[in-house]
Formats: sequence, structure tokens, C-alpha cells
Amino acid sequence: MTCTRCRGLMVPDRFMDLRDDTGHLDFLGWRCLNCGEVVDPVVLTHRVDAPTGPYQGRTRDRRMWERLVAA
Ligand SMILES: [Zn+2]
Repeated sequence: MTCTRCRGLMVPDRFMDLRDDTGHLDFLGWRCLNCGEVVDPVVLTHRVDAPTGPYQGRTRDRRMWERLVAA
């Protein structure tokens, strides 16, 4: 796979996301050995289905999440 930013070599990698609220702490993606670009299926999906206008739904409040973890 070739990086879209620098055309460098991308390799599969496993990433940790401690703030993910889907119940998964890690995910598989691709990392560019040249520039460090990281892509995963979610990033690729958002790039293909880019929104045409401002987001109208509710956003998650990070402060609420931190209160839940601290409890
Ligand atoms: Zn790159």
C-alpha cells in the first residue's frame, strides 16, 4: 500500500486507543514508514464519504467520559 501523502511505503500495524468508547482498545490500520500517516477503515470511510455540510448530530462530551472513568 502506498501513502497518499508522500507515496511512501505503508505497513499494517496495531494501534491502541484508550479513549475509544466502542469497547475495543486496539484497532488494525496502516502506518507510513516515511511520514507516519495512519489510516484505518474508519479514516478511509470518512475520506470517501466526506460530509457536505456541518455536522448536525450530537457530539460526545469528553469531560463526561472522564467523569465516568474516574468513578
Ligand atoms: Zn507517508
